[in-house]
Amino acid sequence: MNAVIMDSPAAIPGLAWNNRFAALGPDFFTELQPTPLPSPYWVSRNQALAREMGLEQPWFESQAALALFTGNQLVQGARPLASVYSGHQFGQWAGQLGDGRAILLGELETANGPQEVQLKGAGMTPYSRMGDGRAVLRSSIREYLCSEAMQGLGIPTTRALCVTGSDARVRREEIETAAVVTRTSPSFIRFGHFEHFSYSGQHEQLKTLADFVIDSFYPACRESAQPYAALLQAVSERTAKLMAAWQSVGFCHGVMNTDNMSILGLTIDYGPFQFLDAFDPGHICNHSDTQGRYAYNKQPNIAYWNLFCLGQALLPLIEEQEQALAALESYKTVFPQALEARMRAKLGLPDARPEDKTLIENAFKLLAADKVDYTIFWRRLCHFHTPQGHEVVRDLFLDRVGYDAWALQYSERLAPVDIGLQADLMLKTNPRYVLRNHLGEQAIQAAKLKDFSGVNTLLTLLQAPFEEHPGHDSHAGFPPDWAAGIEISCSS
Ligand code: AMP
Ligand code: MG
Repeated sequence: MNAVIMDSPAAIPGLAWNNRFAALGPDFFTELQPTPLPSPYWVSRNQALAREMGLEQPWFESQAALALFTGNQLVQGARPLASVYSGHQFGQWAGQLGDGRAILLGELETANGPQEVQLKGAGMTPYSRMGDGRAVLRSSIREYLCSEAMQGLGIPTTRALCVTGSDARVRREEIETAAVVTRTSPSFIRFGHFEHFSYSGQHEQLKTLADFVIDSFYPACRESAQPYAALLQAVSERTAKLMAAWQSVGFCHGVMNTDNMSILGLTIDYGPFQFLDAFDPGHICNHSDTQGRYAYNKQPNIAYWNLFCLGQALLPLIEEQEQALAALESYKTVFPQALEARMRAKLGLPDARPEDKTLIENAFKLLAADKVDYTIFWRRLCHFHTPQGHEVVRDLFLDRVGYDAWALQYSERLAPVDIGLQADLMLKTNPRYVLRNHLGEQAIQAAKLKDFSGVNTLLTLLQAPFEEHPGHDSHAGFPPDWAAGIEISCSS
């Protein structure tokens, strides 16, 4: 396979491109082609997403697809570009950023609706700053698997269609190899896109962007007397629900800068993320986050802070500060309600009662005090109603007295609930499989030796995380001791 882009453009069979972001005009991006990688190979293909999109399977397995999804092939009908955005990073205004290593090929009309297709790691762009425009195999596999893990958990996210690799060397803390992850999303627009046009005084473009987002993704806001305040409120509500979802599964994002916040309320830009092993509310998953700004228990407040930045950016359009503040207020009611609903489902409670809040808080306190494995606790709790099931939950705690008091409270609350209904709800809400760091790490180590079976096995498990998948107990077990020593930092 030649590294040079082939000059006759190839189509994706059966699917048409429609590039609405590109139609916004050149103030929003720079058009450019990906930079090819030498001798690409497949790392993994997400057949489930390909089917959803309506990609033809034989084509998806072809050399043509491999070249296209590595950025080695011009694409007929696409308008590749890198978009410009700005953002607040670690609480500070960082000024202009942009797609430094992500190239948007365009928007595909798929069986799943319009989906933008982005190649992450496909070479330098005018926004690469000090970076090389590349992504390494390790981080690409992590993004690929975690996107699909979130989807499997029913949590809004950008998707990942495939990963391709190349032996091209990429310098990080050590020398690694390059990879490209193909991501899809209805839109990759971030809070930072709005901040960019607002803070640079480009208010016409700010309005164009807001109108595009409203008309494409939030059409109901158009009915409001103040569509831009309505947009802020809608984004606040989606973000609140997203935070509730993250907290409920023990997901830490790690880099919640405003340029990593999706205007659609999707999980986006998987970097140093982690699913909690032992429950530690103050857990910091990003090795570079020395202050713990993005610790697990800070995420809901950080999201609110980020929404304030978005509100500030939208002020030239909203005009009345009071309206912006009122729109942001909704976060404060939607987040706790959404979190309680998620936690009630995890407890197998189909209806709400006033005492549920205490029951949930007490569960969190016990888990934190004994640093109990978060995912295993909830999965075991699905069988709490059987004597044996109850014992294996109890075994997780050192503080048996504390646990017994909580278990009594919980049993009383469960008494009127139909057991079948409760178990069914819990088994669909408490995953058996999450992408723990050590699982990703094992698959990555094998992939570095060109054995991609671990990546594919994890993909299968994580896409259906509530199913048993007999024979995979080790993927559902406690992390090994070495897992605590895995260090993951920002851009890689
Ligand atoms: P992140 O924290 O990964 O979301 O990245 C923050 C910013 O740095 C974004 O604007 C990225 O496009 C850019 N960036 C990260 N890594 C690279 C890289 N290897 N080359 C170029 N730009 C990068
Ligand atoms: Mg980013």
